[in-house]
Amino acid sequence: MSFKKPGENIITFYRGRFAPSPTGPLHFGSLVAAVGSFLEARSRGGEWLVRMEDLDLPRAVPGAADDILRTLDALGLHWDGELMFQSARNEAYRAALAELEKLGAVYPCACTRREIADSALSGIDGPVYPGTCSGGLPGGRSARAMRVRADSGAVGFDDGLQGRVSQMLATEVGDFVVRRADGLFAYQLAVVVDDAEQGVTHIVRGADLLDSTPRQIYLQKLLGLPTPAYMHLPVAVNERGEKLSKQTLAPAVSVANPVGALFDVLVFLNQSPPSELIDADPGSFWKWAIAHWRAGRLPAVRSRPRSRVKALE
Ligand SMILES: [Zn+2]
Repeated sequence: MSFKKPGENIITFYRGRFAPSPTGPLHFGSLVAAVGSFLEARSRGGEWLVRMEDLDLPRAVPGAADDILRTLDALGLHWDGELMFQSARNEAYRAALAELEKLGAVYPCACTRREIADSALSGIDGPVYPGTCSGGLPGGRSARAMRVRADSGAVGFDDGLQGRVSQMLATEVGDFVVRRADGLFAYQLAVVVDDAEQGVTHIVRGADLLDSTPRQIYLQKLLGLPTPAYMHLPVAVNERGEKLSKQTLAPAVSVANPVGALFDVLVFLNQSPPSELIDADPGSFWKWAIAHWRAGRLPAVRSRPRSRVKALE
């Protein structure tokens, strides 16, 4: 909490961000994270940055990044400062990996996905790596990926919406990949390096990333980087409980009716917008939304059906 005395500046600084992957156009699911992070930042007088997570170039769809940025702009989601593109950040990721190597925190791994699946127990996010290569590469095998050693203690944090989260990395996740067999840096490493580079103080994003947050905090500690505050919003799911995504054929957000889409997000996030707001222009919409944003009303669940919104209309 910050207290402002007369003649004194507010000392609390807030910098949030939205970090979409350009695998397709913006849809309702990604719009929830965009609007939630934007309103949490703006209602606290903070900055809001946009970073394109186009690290996984094989999955990036040509033109999707431009399409997402145009949509954000059309919706009145205007960002501060320079855009960051992960595809231009390899040098920084390489330096972070070198730092981890210097600490003796990483080791090369020769295992194939198949070998790991055959010998591993299943954990919180796929198979728990059994540690086959942690003492050195088996004879005659060459390195594929780089893994970071997970220590045996618990990594915990207080999520701004989901409450206390604690994980035993060694047994629930295992030693995890920071550089993949295809040579790309893993998301877990890239996101940590980028959030630090951009000076992000508060991360508001979908709860599908809740379980990977302890891995990110662990990397922040190893690299001597600050840990931001986290808030994980419910993920919008369809009637079958599947996350809305390009894979589940979520429709693109229509820029023809920007306020309609934004209104639905406020309903989804329990902000109870008055029905006349749906006819507002984007400027008036944001004025209301910023003034009336209440984080305390957000649904503290990991997922929520998109149809919940439709039923209220
Ligand atoms: Zn291995």
